[in-house]
Amino acid sequence: MKPKIHYTRPSISDLEVQYANDAAKNGWGENCYDYINRFEGLFKRYLGVKYAISTSSCTGALHMGMAALDIGQGDEVILADTNWIATAAPIVHLGAKPVFVDILEDSWCINPKLAEKAITENTKAIIATHIYGNLCDMGRLLAISKKYGIPVIEDSAEAIGSVYHGKRAGSMGAFGTFSFHGTKTITTGEGGMFVTNDENLYNKVLTLSNHGRVKGQSKQFWPETVGFKYKMSNIQAAVGCAQMERIEELVNRKREILNFYKQKLNKFDGVYLNPEPTGVINGAWMPTVIFNKSYDIGREELLQKYKNKNIDARVFFWPLSSLPFFEKVKNPNAYSISERAINLPSYHDMKEKDLLIVVGEIIDTIEKR
Ligand SMILES: *Cc1c(COP(=O)(O)O)cnc(C)c1O
Repeated sequence: MKPKIHYTRPSISDLEVQYANDAAKNGWGENCYDYINRFEGLFKRYLGVKYAISTSSCTGALHMGMAALDIGQGDEVILADTNWIATAAPIVHLGAKPVFVDILEDSWCINPKLAEKAITENTKAIIATHIYGNLCDMGRLLAISKKYGIPVIEDSAEAIGSVYHGKRAGSMGAFGTFSFHGTKTITTGEGGMFVTNDENLYNKVLTLSNHGRVKGQSKQFWPETVGFKYKMSNIQAAVGCAQMERIEELVNRKREILNFYKQKLNKFDGVYLNPEPTGVINGAWMPTVIFNKSYDIGREELLQKYKNKNIDARVFFWPLSSLPFFEKVKNPNAYSISERAINLPSYHDMKEKDLLIVVGEIIDTIEKR
């Protein structure tokens, strides 16, 4: 069997090891928040936001953020049908209803027109997930937000490094969330971040994140409300600090890989990868290729070819409304695109020879049509 080409893997240098080592040895007692504070500081500076709270996952950050927006029983939250379950699960946990709308054909992100149409008197938020690093149409979504007084949440788990007309993904909505799972552009093993510019929302999430204990409360073990426990450890944050010091390098390599695939495939009409419209920078978390219907190239065929070569490619997200516990919704783009798309391997240390093997399978498939 040929050596496996993984679809993602983290880049861990001596710096991450050194910081993690230091945190494990010295990050206790009065030093137990040092790397956490530093990581949150680096993240705020990078994103250009006022407040950041590190969490155990992006899912946890979304859960607390939506709880802080008082989303609960009987409420509705609008999101794209093309999404990872992590974006919808906290809505369900809060007793609210996820309302799935279709995606745009070019960005694979939520269609703002359909999001606006889905608004009812029960709508409490719209989630803008910047899928695979592609940016949502934030101009339109923020205008809708203003018009109806409904907050836009940016799920930026896949969009570190993505920039929308000078503003970083995650910095534009009521709040933004990030993931540092081992498959993401920067990692802490597991982990996440909640970011906002809204002082009130920040304080609410800070209290929720500490089991309902208000910052500055002098009475010990005194929660004001029932909160959550979605915290990041100092050792994880140490790895995160090193990753943030290398963020430009890590994002640039992701972009380099996406551009490599694009260069090899853009000569074929009707074969598309992650778009980068004018005024936008794509953080390129996950290079994804989509074939026009006329090619009749499907997900299963490519998956099988890659499997034969020990290459780990992944399926485009299934429409969430196709999952057995949700109600099916007619969202033609979300359903059609997932049939004729595939995620390609991309990791920091990926060799050009492996990139050529991956792209070669696609070219071979196209040319045999
Ligand atoms: C990875 C991901 C999440 C969840 O992140 P966790 O840190 O695993 O909770 C949420 N939303 C999107 C779009 C993701 O890709």
